[in-house]
Amino acid sequence: MMSQKQLQKIEKLDPHLVNQIAAGEVIERPAAILKELVENSIDAGALRVDVDVEDGGRALIAIRDNGCGISVDDIALAFERHATSKLSTGDLFAINTFGFRGEALPSIASISRTQMITRTSADEHAWKITIDGGKSSLLAPHQAAIGTTLEVRDIFYATPARLKFLKNATTELGHCKDMLARIAMANPHVHFTFKADNRNIYDWPSGSLTTRIAQVMGNEFSQNTVPVLLEREGYSLEGLVSLPTYSRSQANDQYIYVNNRWVRDRNVSGILRVAYQDVLMTGRHPMAVLFFNLDGREVDVNVHPAKTEVRFRDSGFVRSFLIQGVKQSLQASQHTASPSIGNLVLGAFTSPNLKNFTNTNINYKPILRDSYPSAKPHPIAAFIQPTYAPVLEQEEVAIDYPMGIAKAQVFETFIVAQTNDALLVIDQHAAHERIVYEELKSQWSAQGKLPSQPLLQPEYIELSENDCVLFEQNQPLFEQIGFVIDVYSSKTLVVHSTPIACHLQGSKEFIHDVLADFKVLGEGVSAIEVLWEKLSSHACHNSIRAGKTLSLAEMNALLRQMESTPKSAMCNHGRPTFVKLDKKSLEKLFER
Ligand code: ADP
Ligand code: MG
Repeated sequence: MMSQKQLQKIEKLDPHLVNQIAAGEVIERPAAILKELVENSIDAGALRVDVDVEDGGRALIAIRDNGCGISVDDIALAFERHATSKLSTGDLFAINTFGFRGEALPSIASISRTQMITRTSADEHAWKITIDGGKSSLLAPHQAAIGTTLEVRDIFYATPARLKFLKNATTELGHCKDMLARIAMANPHVHFTFKADNRNIYDWPSGSLTTRIAQVMGNEFSQNTVPVLLEREGYSLEGLVSLPTYSRSQANDQYIYVNNRWVRDRNVSGILRVAYQDVLMTGRHPMAVLFFNLDGREVDVNVHPAKTEVRFRDSGFVRSFLIQGVKQSLQASQHTASPSIGNLVLGAFTSPNLKNFTNTNINYKPILRDSYPSAKPHPIAAFIQPTYAPVLEQEEVAIDYPMGIAKAQVFETFIVAQTNDALLVIDQHAAHERIVYEELKSQWSAQGKLPSQPLLQPEYIELSENDCVLFEQNQPLFEQIGFVIDVYSSKTLVVHSTPIACHLQGSKEFIHDVLADFKVLGEGVSAIEVLWEKLSSHACHNSIRAGKTLSLAEMNALLRQMESTPKSAMCNHGRPTFVKLDKKSLEKLFER
């Protein structure tokens, strides 16, 4: 049967409507306007950009720059769609400006009340234009310095349906702050200021990249990072990544730039995950500021109107290049403990307030040696006139070992050791975890697989059909890490053996986790890397638990093992395995 519906005659969309439609893509919220305008300022060669917002940007976003300005003949054109001064070469792959699509100004002007004041160095005075919901006023002369000021008021007032999607002022302000931070990081040559409702939020004078990163990320970040630098065949990766001992629960503080353009690439946090897999616990995220540069012809930035996604011609190569760059730096920093932790230790070792000292019931429990007399000496007397002296065993005299000689165990959790010039406190569980994990790795590299252990009773695991297929595709890898698993039905697996190494409580959770990760990370991350990451988080089940009493010999054995184990400064969860307090700091604490 023929449809009764008759379509109307085809007509070209009214340009105003076209702009509003485009605005739907480019301008999702005030922060997006801020981005477009600040990028325009930088494209115009500005060295100073002042940003003001009111009501989280919902009432006003104002950007003032000292860039080149727009000549009076071009002002009207700037607000026309697809009008740009940035594609003179006509080559989409030779772009060295942030903008190039000529969409931002007309889109913004179509949904708000916009005013622009601009002046070039050739002009005697500035010009002003206002555009109200897409309708522009006549140009009028105005007094202003060289550069451009744009004021955007009442965002989305012309498109009430979109207005409803704006979040409260605090949220929108947060987005604006984040956005400016991202842009500022890649443009340290520009002085940025940011005010919200007349409060000063940022004032970042121009300077080196290092200075800018510290301004944006804070000094603590700068002190807890390692530099990344990898250059090869026209590709370069440069920046700072956090020490594994300094991580976050969210992946927010990861800034990746491709040819100086901040990108929100889904795979980026995946790249960092792989690079940190040995040293960071699942659920923790490194911080990073990374600049990746490559030939413009190798990358397409024109994937989305907001230009925050990119497509690489050779994404496989790019991935491994990025991973390698970050990994190398992490390896170079293996034995660096985060300075913040050292400060924490120092902070923790404050001298006791004398009043408190006498009031406190000091629970003095000498555990220096297993064989100490059980009688408790008076705490003060013990210091003045020791009633006993630790008897050093022969080997304990030589304390040139990097991890020193074990002196005591406290709280059944920490080992206290001494080297020639420092006191060490070692987390026995964390340290052993690292040792077990590195052992796993050396077995792996020697035999290319891990030993497995048969289960007394096979374990049946229900999966979706898709997951089952995914499992089958990766079955050989599971076998490599020590599983023996058969596909029982289209939705069931049966596990016969599990890896000795990780002492799984049950394989079900492990397999579900791994398959979920396969799906999230997609192509580019090798499946075996995912498996390793998971194994590392399970290796701890095989470690000396906190709470286990150790003899001195056991403690010393652990210390010697740590010395011969790579990456022993942190456990495979990225926590430090030991802290160190050198003799000098100790003396300083006592004001000696
Ligand atoms: P695009 O940045 O993609 O070219 P826009 O709509 O953002 O498109 O801007 C249109 C044009 O207006 C730009 O190409 C540029 O010539 C001019 N322009 C916009 N903002 C500024 C500014 N702050 N200073 C100088 N020129 C500007
Ligand atoms: Mg632009």
